[in-house]
Amino acid sequence: MKDRPLRTTVIGSYPFPGWLEFASAHLDKFGEADVKELIEDAVAIAIHDQMAAGLDVITDGEQARLDFNLSFYGFIEGIALESAPPRRFGPPAHDQRGQHQITGELRAPRGLGAVADFERLKRLAPPGPALKASVPGPYTLSGRLIPNQRYPDRHAVTEALLPIVRGELLALVQAGCREITVDEPSMSCYAHREDTRRLVDIFNRAVEPVIGKCRLSTHLCFGNYKARAVGPRRYAPMFPAFLDLKVDEIHLEMASREFAELEIIGEIAARKDVAVGIIDVKSYYIETPEDVAARVKRCLQHAPADRLSFAPDCGLSQTARWAAREKLKSLGRGVQKVRQELKL
Ligand SMILES: [Zn+2]
Repeated sequence: MKDRPLRTTVIGSYPFPGWLEFASAHLDKFGEADVKELIEDAVAIAIHDQMAAGLDVITDGEQARLDFNLSFYGFIEGIALESAPPRRFGPPAHDQRGQHQITGELRAPRGLGAVADFERLKRLAPPGPALKASVPGPYTLSGRLIPNQRYPDRHAVTEALLPIVRGELLALVQAGCREITVDEPSMSCYAHREDTRRLVDIFNRAVEPVIGKCRLSTHLCFGNYKARAVGPRRYAPMFPAFLDLKVDEIHLEMASREFAELEIIGEIAARKDVAVGIIDVKSYYIETPEDVAARVKRCLQHAPADRLSFAPDCGLSQTARWAAREKLKSLGRGVQKVRQELKL
């Protein structure tokens, strides 16, 4: 179980500062040392905003993942640079993001970069909060790779990526990482048309080497690229199968779904910790600390305090930074209010 009741946490990503986004579009103008400095400055800011919100768990905001070469895919051999997206104009959606051709054997001899990200976070973060690393699970990671003769469908691509993810998790633990989220939003987006037992088996084989060696969680949302969902936004198709995920904590998106199916957190809490998304990352309505406190109390009607964590619905990378900062502050203050009221 976690170290404190009503823990506040985040899903990995945080918005890039405007200057970082500008720099990432002009990386050829920067030297290696400049890029290192850009990333460290951005991570320091992401840490600062999370610390200012008083969160119990923080991440590096995935600030180092600023172009293809620095993305998880950039670390994988056997794939070609992103192909042009099928749609380039019109309203924003996931089909404006390119996919990668597979050109050879999928390998990651240098890992996926998460260890260097964690080492940097460890070096820059002040003492206090728990430091969390995030790694995409193999099924989610397979989503942007186009199957070919060698890897004929999404499951074949997933199986090829599975040992890469296993290796990364093990390397993180060996580097001293004590808390890891294995992000599998593709599982929640497509559970309605997949064999859920098969998805659980994939997940459990991916995390197998680190079970019991760190606090493991997963993030199951319905898609947030350009703040648009892609799944049917219902958790029912995943349960009860997903109760067998070998994790300490399952994170669910609740705020943007107006807390539909909230009772499911009771079912999860009977087996493991549950992190509830109570901040809507897609809305520019800024939740007040009072809103947050009311949402926490609503969750307490279904699950005990020592099983509950609270977070935004998803990573904040698709939310403007001014709003992300205010939303995190409300998260911290609102949960703190309830802790004080309940003398936790
Ligand atoms: Zn998400």
